[in-house]
Amino acid sequence: MRPIERFIEYAKMPTMSDENSASCPSTEKQRALALRAAEDLRALGLEVEVTDNCYVYAKLPASAPAKNRIGLISHLDTSPDAPDADIKPRIVKFTGEDILLNKEKGIYLSVKDYPALEKRIGDELVVTDGTTLLGADDKAGVTEIIAAIERIVREGLPHGDVSVAFTPDEEIGRGADLFDVERFGADYAYTVDGGALGEIEYENFNAASADIEIDGISIHPGSAKGKMVNASEVAHYFHSLLPERETPYYTEGYEGFYHLAGMSGSVEHASLKYIIRDHDRAVFEKRKKFVEEAAEKTRERFPGAVVNCRITDSYYNMKEKIEPVMYVVERAAEAFRRVGVETVAVPIRGGTDGARLSFMGLPCPNLSTGGENFHSRFEYLSVDSFNKIVDALVVLVTSLTE
Ligand SMILES: [Zn+2]
Repeated sequence: MRPIERFIEYAKMPTMSDENSASCPSTEKQRALALRAAEDLRALGLEVEVTDNCYVYAKLPASAPAKNRIGLISHLDTSPDAPDADIKPRIVKFTGEDILLNKEKGIYLSVKDYPALEKRIGDELVVTDGTTLLGADDKAGVTEIIAAIERIVREGLPHGDVSVAFTPDEEIGRGADLFDVERFGADYAYTVDGGALGEIEYENFNAASADIEIDGISIHPGSAKGKMVNASEVAHYFHSLLPERETPYYTEGYEGFYHLAGMSGSVEHASLKYIIRDHDRAVFEKRKKFVEEAAEKTRERFPGAVVNCRITDSYYNMKEKIEPVMYVVERAAEAFRRVGVETVAVPIRGGTDGARLSFMGLPCPNLSTGGENFHSRFEYLSVDSFNKIVDALVVLVTSLTE
């Protein structure tokens, strides 16, 4: 079968993860895909294991001496941000005309709404019926890796040790939690979990959360003079100390921000939840300090209030782990060039599992999958991009032999 057909079969299997579940995998439906992918890898002669927590580890032992042990990783789950019930992937030839996704509901995918489509004119696209996500994030990655391994095995191309892993629960930030770097057994790896063809990502945000909890003092407003401490007003004061133009709305590229992600308040109690982001580690540390100082200023201004400020680091910019081994990025860029694709390095305004893995000792940049509009009912995957990425993965794995 054409490799894209495997993608279409996988895409039909719903695997949405659930951040409200404490178990791993967070949803049992991810296991069906784990078992299916394991079966497909076994059929190619790989040693495969699926753990109780639904991590798939597979090994293709070297057929020739090689410089490094390479790893390829993608994730099984799809985002909880868009529905996954009854996914109907289909292939359409994209001429530039609006694509009618759903006749009954009148849903179109158009260049007007998604200008990036312009680059895909002439491509075959896999689309949905406009009521669910497609799940190219990250089943495109999963099936591109399998297709690359398939070609290497079938054509008997010489290769070194190749490790493959498919993880659960990436979309809820837990994909790296139970990842066993030792068992995986690679010197470095790539997540195949990015967007448009040719993007290579090895810079992401440093990330922390800040929880501000404020206790005030309530009393009847009629007799409150000199006594009431209104926690909501204290919270308001705290927020006013943060720079107004350093929010997601005003920033892009490498610019960092403070983002008020949630708030609630009464007179007795108020709570503010922020996330703090910056690509630059030193500036990131300064931002955290700035929040601590704002809390201190708030305490000084409202001595009667109790202001608790808890800052927790979430993940760091993998750049500091990748820069000492930049050949890992260059090797991937070279593989793409050799199949005729120019690459572009894009700073991620978020995190990836690869960032966490890089800090766990496995340098792990992110490669494109060819999918776009992730986490959306308008998600699509270019079949032409998909095939190019498979070509590039084959070159990447087989160019390491001595
Ligand atoms: Zn993803």
